[in-house]
Formats: sequence, structure tokens, C-alpha cells
Amino acid sequence: MKAEMIAVGTELLLGQIVNTNAQYLSQQLAMLGIDVYYQTVVGDNPARLKDVVATAMERADLVLLTGGLGPTMDDITKDVVAELLDRSMEMHLPSLQKMEDMFRDRGVAMVESNRRQAHMIEGSDALDNSAGLAVGNALIQDGTAFILLPGPPKEMKPMFEEQVIPWLENNLFEERVTLYSRMLKFAGIGESNLEASLIDLIELQTDPTIAPYAKEGEVLIRLATKSSSLQEAEQKLNDMEEQILVRVGKYLFARADVSLEQVLVEQFTKHHLSLAAAESCTGGLFGELITSVAGSSQMFTGGVITYSNQMKHELLNVPMELLEGEQAPGAVSHETARAMADGLLKLMKTDYAVSITGVAGPGQSERKPAGLVYIGIAAKGEETVTHELRLNGNREMIRLRAVKILMQRLWQ
Ligand code: ATP
Ligand code: MG
Repeated sequence: MKAEMIAVGTELLLGQIVNTNAQYLSQQLAMLGIDVYYQTVVGDNPARLKDVVATAMERADLVLLTGGLGPTMDDITKDVVAELLDRSMEMHLPSLQKMEDMFRDRGVAMVESNRRQAHMIEGSDALDNSAGLAVGNALIQDGTAFILLPGPPKEMKPMFEEQVIPWLENNLFEERVTLYSRMLKFAGIGESNLEASLIDLIELQTDPTIAPYAKEGEVLIRLATKSSSLQEAEQKLNDMEEQILVRVGKYLFARADVSLEQVLVEQFTKHHLSLAAAESCTGGLFGELITSVAGSSQMFTGGVITYSNQMKHELLNVPMELLEGEQAPGAVSHETARAMADGLLKLMKTDYAVSITGVAGPGQSERKPAGLVYIGIAAKGEETVTHELRLNGNREMIRLRAVKILMQRLWQ
């Protein structure tokens, strides 16, 4: 089934409001296994709206419109659709009654224009509005279903869930197919590398489909399949997941859309381990992300931002000989990352202490290129490990990627 959405409202075109209805409806339709082919935004203009609806009617099996069901002159959706479909307008008496009751209860006179909100396109089904006054409409003409919904999300969403889904089930679905999906989250590998590793699968695969998305230093892969049974869907998703993990399994950190920091906080908490961070080029970003997770106080004791060499030396006891001098490895080095992590472990007395030092760019530092970052992980009673990272991107991306890779190494 091909669906199309039309959001009506000049405010949308002016950028005064964001078309969140499209996002919501797209998600809902995806869950119902309905493909959305087009989304359109059109102003409160009868001629252009009529054009857009006529085009949608040509190419879609289901057209959903939101907005323009209100009482004012610019609320024209029902009239325009009725005219296009050559239908007249009727009054939905229960909605009119509800409106009259409401105005009476509030002790205000009902303005004539309000009656428009109880209008129905001739022969359509009423969609009750449990959160407002304008009644929604649903109808089928020439093989295309039309659903008219109010603009305000607080009215549109309950109407969709309470009224539209049952209507679609009764009127459009022969066999109930549902879209099943699964999220796989990866870190420590960039989106393009991940995609390159899976390119043949992605290109050849139509069921399940594989879609990678880059998301804040992590990569999300969404597997989706349409199926009439959960069991069949699970089987298809499992097979595909297996093929993917053979190739890039070592970068997987979750089978849900959760962040790396969430997974880390969970893991440390579960094992009653504590963590502290010493950051240079990331200026506290590691701590910021970890503490954005509710419950992180169970495992994160704190951190230090040692941006200058002086601070690295004074707070973390990094030897000055490491940091400065012709022969010194410098602040951006394996040695300094190690000394920072070791120094912090001593200072904080945590189970784990991590460090980040590098060149976030733009431009060099210590004659080292932007994107060169060293991370260190010190743990009580274990050999401290450090890693050299060579990261791409602007300053912001380099900092975020460094933090995410450190988290991924810590998680492994
Ligand atoms: P009303 O009875 O409030 O006039 P309506 O059905 O006529 O409702 P509109 O007049 O088009 O709808 O929009 C009313 C309000 O609903 C907008 O000001 C906006 O806050 C919200 N809204 C409308 N369309 C959208 C949309 N596509 N996404 C998010 N919000 C929307
Ligand atoms: Mg309106």
C-alpha cells in the first residue's frame, strides 16, 4: 500500500511551526507496514491544496491530511477535498451536539463558524476527536482512501490511535502485515566503513532491508521486514543479523537504539565498578555524556579537565619530562595518555580511570596533525592500555569520536 501525507498550513511554510505530524504519522504508518512515498506541505490556499490532493489521489492508495479542520476562514481542508471529489458537505450531528454542550457548559455563546468543525464530507466516516472539537473524516473514492485529521498534535495523535488505526484495519487491510524491525548499534567504526563492509548485503537485500544511519559518533543499523507473523519475521531478522555480525560483530554494542554511554553506565553499575575520567582535548565531554545518563552517579565518581601541561603535571603527576622538551614525547602521546590514566587512578581511587589527550584541530599542535588522539584506560591491578586514534572530521566531530571510541574500548 502506498501512502502519502499532506500537511496543510501556511505556518508550516513560513517555518513558524515544525511538521512534527509528518514524523509521527510516518512512524505510525511504518509500524503498520504501510509505505509512505511522499510528504507534502502546502499552505492554506484552496487552489494549491486542491492541486496537491489531486496529485496524491493519482499515485497513492492512502492520503492522510492534517490541519485546516478548525473553525476559521483559513481552515479549508474539508471543503477542498469535498469539491475535488465532487461531494457535498453534511453536518455530523453528534459532533455538533458535543460542541453545543461544551459551549453551554462554559457559558459562552457559540459562534456560527464553529459549526464548520462538525462538517463531514458527504458519505465519509466520522473520526471522533477526543481532545478537541473538529471531527475527522475518512472515506474511500476510486480506490484511494482519504483521512482528514486536525492539525494540533494533541488532537491528531489520539485520533490516529483511537480512530484511524481501527478504520484502516476494517477498510483497507485484507491480510494484516506488520513491519518488524530491529536496531543494531555499532561504535568504533565509521558509517562509511561499516557500509563498505556490508555493501553487497545492503544493495542486494530487499527483505529484510538494511539501513545504516550515523548517529552522534555511533552507527545504527535498522533491519526491517514485513511479515504476517512475528515468528517468520524473527527468523528473517536473525538470519540477516548473523550475516552482518560475521563481518562487523566486534563493533556491535547493543541490539536496541541505546547510546554507548547508557550501555556503559549499565555495565559498570551491574558489576559495581567505579570510573573517573581525565580529559584534555575533549574538555569534559566524556563526563558530560556519561552524566547525561540517569543513574550514572552509581558508577561515575568524577573527572578532571587538565588542558594545560601544568595541570597535567600538578593534578595527575604527569612528569614534566614527558610533556616538554626537545626529546619529550609531548602531551599528545601514548606516554602522556598512560601517565594521565595512571595518575587519575591514584587520585580518584576508582576501579577504572580513563584519559584522553589529542589534537582536536583545526590545525596542528606540537607539530602533530589534527585528529591525532591518544586514549588510556587504567584499571586497578591491571596493565594500563593506550590507543592511538587518527580521526577525521572537524573539531566537534573529532572530540565526539574520541570520546565514543574510548567508551567502546572501555565497554569491550
Ligand atoms: P485548529 O482548530 O486549531 O485551527 P486545525 O485542524 O485547523 O486546528 P491548523 O489550523 O492547520 O489545524 O493548525 C493548528 C495548530 O496545530 C497549528 O498552529 C500548530 O500548532 C499545529 N499544527 C498544525 N499542523 C501541524 C503539523 N503538521 N505539525 C505539527 N503541528 C501542527
Ligand atoms: Mg485552523
